[in-house]
This record gives sequence, structure tokens and C-alpha cells, in this order.
Amino acid sequence: MGCLYCQTTGERLPLDTPIWRSSTGGLLDIELNAAFPRGEIARRPPGMWRYREALPPFDDADVVTFGEGFTPLVRGAVGGRSAWLKLDYLFPSGSYKDRGASVLVSQARRLGIRRVVEDSSGNAGAAIAAYCARAGIACDIYVPAATAPAKVAQIRAYGAGVIGVAGDRAATAAAAWDAAQREYYASHAWNPFFLQGTKTIAFEIVEQLGWRAPDVVIIPVGNGTLLLGAYIGFRELRDAGVIDALPRLIGVQAAACAPLHAAWQSGRDQIEPAGARPTIAEGIAIANPVRGGQCFGAVRATNGEFVAVTDEEIDAARREAQAAGFFIEPSSAAALAALRQWEVPGDTIVVPLTGHGLKAALPHGF
Ligand SMILES: *Cc1c(COP(=O)(O)O)cnc(C)c1O
Repeated sequence: MGCLYCQTTGERLPLDTPIWRSSTGGLLDIELNAAFPRGEIARRPPGMWRYREALPPFDDADVVTFGEGFTPLVRGAVGGRSAWLKLDYLFPSGSYKDRGASVLVSQARRLGIRRVVEDSSGNAGAAIAAYCARAGIACDIYVPAATAPAKVAQIRAYGAGVIGVAGDRAATAAAAWDAAQREYYASHAWNPFFLQGTKTIAFEIVEQLGWRAPDVVIIPVGNGTLLLGAYIGFRELRDAGVIDALPRLIGVQAAACAPLHAAWQSGRDQIEPAGARPTIAEGIAIANPVRGGQCFGAVRATNGEFVAVTDEEIDAARREAQAAGFFIEPSSAAALAALRQWEVPGDTIVVPLTGHGLKAALPHGF
């Protein structure tokens, strides 16, 4: 029933091996034979765990959940262009990262792990801290010293240790990396169980559209945990015969920190670390994404593309969305800024709204 898989070495290991990277230090992925028994799925509560036959197998007692998921999919418009908006800012901790945290922390509980470490610009840390609180697992979250105050307060409130690290986001990742040599790394970038949670967004979108695939999904991308999750999810649906074709995945980066977009523009596969200038889209400002090569492969395989949007465009989209009642944070508005540039009428377009506006309300003002 599934295995851990290292693309570099071809190594395959049982799913309950207590590791977060391969023996040679490479990225791990998870292989599963996902199934979608629609009748049974329809009889279960509306949440991400209704797709049990497509998730890593866990005993019920190990599943760490707040009943999250199956977020609303509603019509909305920005800049005169309308799309299906997937309201993933309505998760228990206020961002889609709860999808990944629920599966990853379930894995930690199954393994009997008592303490984890994670690094984050805020939302992944909040999600891991929330699910660790639910599971009774201790956690230390490393954040850049300049993280939004509301996000730090939220992580603390869950009872997690917060370690503020001077310098940029990369310095924070390095500090957590050191700690992860001793503790289980609950990293949304490295740990493959996180992507097993984020992939459920694809299942929900397809079920909510009447078991049909959209044509385009526009996703904000830093480390690419939502982009890669969506790619894995749509691929599993196609391989299971539920949908015929994959939607085009559009990865949106903040122009101030856009290494994937830069590589895409240059036509080369070589991803150079970006010089990170400050951006209001702090949640996607990742200079050197660990799974950057995989993000590239996902976008290419779906005939998608990477686009970059400026802080002015992001802020304009944020204001417009908020004024229409969608209270989202700037990282989330990046995808809407891209929607304003998208000119394919008639396509079924989905835009996940990834993070709640309250998380950024203090520093960015009104
Ligand atoms: C984490 C996050 C993203 C995208 O995340 P990556 O995994 O870094 O690509 C987008 N929006 C919000 C609000 C986030 O917290």
C-alpha cells in the first residue's frame, strides 16, 4: 500500500520509515495507488479525509484532524475576469497549509514522534503548531525575525516554541536544518507527507465541479507545496480514470523574489537562487526552492507557465478582493493579480485563495 521513493537513487522504502529525506540526502516522494470510490466518498463528511483511498493509509486513531477541508468553491471576479475561487483561507489555522499539516502530523503520530521542528514565513509554522497542539506533540518553529506579528502570536498561542532568526528566509531555513539533524523535520518543503495533504485540493475541486477537471488553476508559488500538491492530485485523478486531462497549472511568483519565473523566462532548466527583495507577499518569497525542479516539471507537464506580479499589482488585487468580501492576505492576492492578466475567455479557471487577511492585517494596514 504505497511507499517512499527517492527519485535520485530509485530507493523504495515502507511508508512508516521514520525519515524525511533519502539516505543520500535526496528528496523523497510518495507513490500510492489512489482510488476514488465516488459513492462511498459522497456518504462521508465533507472534509479532506473523505478521500481515504487516495491518502497514505493510517489507523483512525493516528489521524490528526479538525474536520478540515472541502472549503467552498464560489464564483468571484477581479479586474473584470471571473473564476472559481477556492476559499482555502477558511482553514482552522487560516491557510491551506492545514491540508499538509494534517497528513504530516498524522504521520508523526503514527511514528510515535514526540517533538518536531519546522521553519516558515508564518503560515506553515502556524499550521504545524496547530496540528501538533491537537496531537500532543511538541514543536519548535523557526521564523524570520521580521515575520508578521499576527503570525508569530498565533504560533505562540498554540504553545509552540518560536525561534526568531535574524536575516532572510534562507537563514531561518538553515537554522531549522541544524535542529533537524536531531529532531524530525516537519518541513513543508522537504517532508513528502505534506504534499499528500495539499493534493486534496485537486480532489475537492474536481468533486465540486461535478467530477470534472477545470481547464486552468492559478496558484501562488514559493516552495511550491500547493502547486506540487495540485499536480500530484490531478495526476492521481487522471491515472484513476476520473478525469481525462490535467488542467494547466499557472505558478505565480512575486516579482521581488521570482527564481522559477526567471528560469522559465530564460528557457533554461537551471534555477538560480533569486536575490530576495522585500515583498508584501512574504508567504511566497522563497529565493531557492528545494523542490524548484519538480515545480518546473509540473508546470511544463501541464502546458502551464510561470508568471510574476509586482507588489503594486498584488496590493491592487488584495484591495479589490477584500472590498468584494474575500478577506485574504497579500501572498494569496498574488494569484488574483495574475487572474487579471489572464485572457482565456470561457475556460473553467480556479484560483485558490490561500491565506486569511487577519494574518497580515497589522503590518500592512488598510
Ligand atoms: C505557503 C503559502 C503559499 C504558497 O506556498 P509555497 O508552498 O511556498 O509555494 C501561498 N499563499 C499563502 C498564504 C501561503 O501561506
